[in-house]
Amino acid sequence: MRAMILDVPGKPLRATEVDVPEPGEGQVLLRVHACAVCRTDLHVVDGELPDPKLPLIPGHQIVGTIEKMGEGVNRFEAGTRVGVPWLGWTDGTCRYCLSGRENLCENASFTGYQIDGGYAEHTVADARFCFPIPDNYPHLQAAPLLCAGLIGHRSLRFAGDAERLGLYGFGASAHIVAQVAVHEGRRVFAFTSPNDEEAQGFARDLGAEWAGSSREKPPEELDAAIIFAPVGALVPAALGTVARGGTVVCAGIHMSDIPSFPYDLLWGERSVRSVANLTRQDGHEFLTLAPEIPVRTETMTFPLEKANEALNTLRSGQIRGAAVLVVDSRQTES
Ligand SMILES: [Zn+2]
Ligand SMILES: [Zn+2]
Repeated sequence: MRAMILDVPGKPLRATEVDVPEPGEGQVLLRVHACAVCRTDLHVVDGELPDPKLPLIPGHQIVGTIEKMGEGVNRFEAGTRVGVPWLGWTDGTCRYCLSGRENLCENASFTGYQIDGGYAEHTVADARFCFPIPDNYPHLQAAPLLCAGLIGHRSLRFAGDAERLGLYGFGASAHIVAQVAVHEGRRVFAFTSPNDEEAQGFARDLGAEWAGSSREKPPEELDAAIIFAPVGALVPAALGTVARGGTVVCAGIHMSDIPSFPYDLLWGERSVRSVANLTRQDGHEFLTLAPEIPVRTETMTFPLEKANEALNTLRSGQIRGAAVLVVDSRQTES
């Protein structure tokens, strides 16, 4: 099968042919239709996350059809379309798993990081961690729901009942969260890099009532802010925009160092927290909610072989919505 492989972090992916994997016990073999590109893929490829499996097939927002079942799988049938997310395996026995917090599992393995992912024509996945994909989403539109959507959903929950919601970094996740937030009757304020008028216009198109530079103050105080950009300096900036009792949620897996800031910014019962990974519960909740709204994902597509170009375009902030690799072009027309 065709695959894009990371041999060493910091080097471009290599296009090659490898054997189609066999599904082990509890696993399914998928024919991959599409795989969305996440900022976390960039952190893996750039070597900002420690100890990836090497060589590695990246990608953890996979939409595929089950071709073959391993022993003991009775959740799905061959021919079912499923999504494979970042959370690829948990031990089910640690204190986090046993308390409904499998996203924090001490022994978790992640797709496209410790397990080969979806930048390939086939992949195998633990059936317990796959999600059925809502029927009304074509492959390309469904793929970004699997991380940008799920992590965005979890982040929005941690923003509580905030009416005035700030979003820092208007990429794949924010463009989905904005739609959910507006649907829930919240008011959205979008912050982008200075002078990124295109992203600001995109945010307004999706219902943001204000969009501006992350260096600006919004026209009024916010109740919560979610930071999607991997920039630590945005933490004190966001704290400076939230009202007393407000929360700043850091949604990314990697961020540059947070500069020191005066205690005054945190005073008044403001809080800062991170969001890590996802639970299967998050996935089921969000994939039920998305078609009800309905969330529309905007995608920029690249053929599988152009994965490096997709990553570089994401790195330079030139993606409107989500970048998606088209793996099986025959199947992706539908
Ligand atoms: Zn665990
Ligand atoms: Zn992701």
